[in-house]
Amino acid sequence: MRDILAWREIDLSALLNNIKVIREKIGKKVDIIAVVKADAYGHGAKIVSLFLQKYANVNSFAVAHIDEGIFLRKIGITKKILVLSPQLKSSIPYYLEYQLTPVISDIEFLEDLGKFSHSKGKELKIHLMFDTGMGREGLLPSEVDKVLNVMEKYPGLILEGISSHLSNSENKKDPYNIFQKKLFYEIYDKFKDEELVFHFSNTGGIFNFPEFHFNAVRPGISLYGYGDKALKPVMEVKAKITLIKDLPEGWGIGYGHTFMTEKNTKIALVPLGYADGYRRDLSNKGRVILNGEYCKIVGRISMDQFTIDVTDKEAKKGDVVTILGMEKDKIIDAQELAIISNTIPYEILTGFGSAKRLKSV
Ligand code: PLP
Repeated sequence: MRDILAWREIDLSALLNNIKVIREKIGKKVDIIAVVKADAYGHGAKIVSLFLQKYANVNSFAVAHIDEGIFLRKIGITKKILVLSPQLKSSIPYYLEYQLTPVISDIEFLEDLGKFSHSKGKELKIHLMFDTGMGREGLLPSEVDKVLNVMEKYPGLILEGISSHLSNSENKKDPYNIFQKKLFYEIYDKFKDEELVFHFSNTGGIFNFPEFHFNAVRPGISLYGYGDKALKPVMEVKAKITLIKDLPEGWGIGYGHTFMTEKNTKIALVPLGYADGYRRDLSNKGRVILNGEYCKIVGRISMDQFTIDVTDKEAKKGDVVTILGMEKDKIIDAQELAIISNTIPYEILTGFGSAKRLKSV
């Protein structure tokens, strides 16, 4: 049988640990809406959602787009599924067919939804999303009355939840968080006598602002291990060395010869590159773990391979290299790769996740 040369490992016990950490933070009475959009941040929406539905105390799931919601229903998710981002009118029949819950960001869409549910004689539960300062999706707080007028016209629309999204919650010191909370409280006050689900916090809100939890939270990145020290990364990425060779002094390595050997140098080839989510920014800057030791990347990351310096290291063809993950006391996490690549762990994880070639094991 052929070796798999590069792959993702998904650690479901880490996922369970992370749910436990979130639960400890929010207490027993607050619902968890697990955010599994973008294929569960690259971890695989199928494995993550089915696992959470069966083994974790999550109340519902959230995705960005309707296709992701339909996918979850098709694989057997029976819990509530919120579709967070605005969709076009043509998506409306699918909310009813697949029992998906729209999170409403505009009045026109609400009106169209109302007409459709009326024409079918069916009820549809909805959540409202308010823009308290994210400046992206969401109704403006000044639109509350207009929304209520539409809701009154269409009794088939059942209001179930009120939400908003924080723009900088990972930064505890940013006073903008308090500004957003104040606006959300003004909306909350208008609806608080109704038995609704109020959800405002993503990971930053959960860990940095206990007073932002209301009665439900929407963790995303924390499910996958980032946002607090007690969380454990769920994804690891590994590959097997395919070639080892000794290069003489003064030999250029890779495209553009951005690395020149200064002495006899032993290099190993790692069969994974930027087409697999391992960013080019890591050229000459990143590191991997091989047999419990860090090894430096030398030369540019290519589309499907890169080179590491294994001079004086134990290394042979077929040895497993940890690109993201832990080995003994050594760790490379998505935060490290994100800092070098001038991005955020979210982009690193979804980057590996969208690499079709990397199988999940
Ligand atoms: N809620 C909404 C509306 C989002 O767009 C996201 C992610 O972008 C989340 C919750 C989860 O955020 P985080 O991954 O920071 O927990």
